Amino acid sequence: MIAREQIGNIADSIRKPLGLTCPYDPEKAVSLLNGTIQPISIDHKIDAAIKKNGEDSFIIYLNTHEPYLRKRFTVAHELGHLFLHMGYLIDNEKWNSIPDDGFQDSAYFRMSDNYSQEENEANEFAASFLMPKAEFIEFAKQHLSNNQYTIKPIAGYFKVSESAAINRGKWLGIFTW
Ligand SMILES: [Zn+2]
Repeated sequence: MIAREQIGNIADSIRKPLGLTCPYDPEKAVSLLNGTIQPISIDHKIDAAIKKNGEDSFIIYLNTHEPYLRKRFTVAHELGHLFLHMGYLIDNEKWNSIPDDGFQDSAYFRMSDNYSQEENEANEFAASFLMPKAEFIEFAKQHLSNNQYTIKPIAGYFKVSESAAINRGKWLGIFTW
């Protein structure tokens, strides 16, 4: 299991050198990271999947019919698998152990015992990528009055769903459960 703190640090270490600004664009990140996004049809029962594509690239298959905010989170989630579970750029041994053209996706993770743990880790990565800790806490503070956070502008600023913003605030310990 990878600690939340560590996942946040990995997300920061990936996002910062890309020079993106808020709202962080995961699709832009994919292309800056030498990956590509390939649309899949709505018939697929999955939101997305990720595949190694040669030694230094990857493909994210994305159900483009998903709503905009959900697609943003989904792409960031797949990036979580890419770094945390496939080792891209951060763990050469792990990355090299995946066959070229080797396929890793939600179905793969579902079959492993670690499914829910890896899914949780990828979600944590996505939340950290889209809503960096320090920036989130700082911005949320500006929308606090009478001990109540106003979620809408916070979610709007980071371009995430309100439920994603609420979860982030809870896990960061600033919103109550
Ligand atoms: Zn996943």
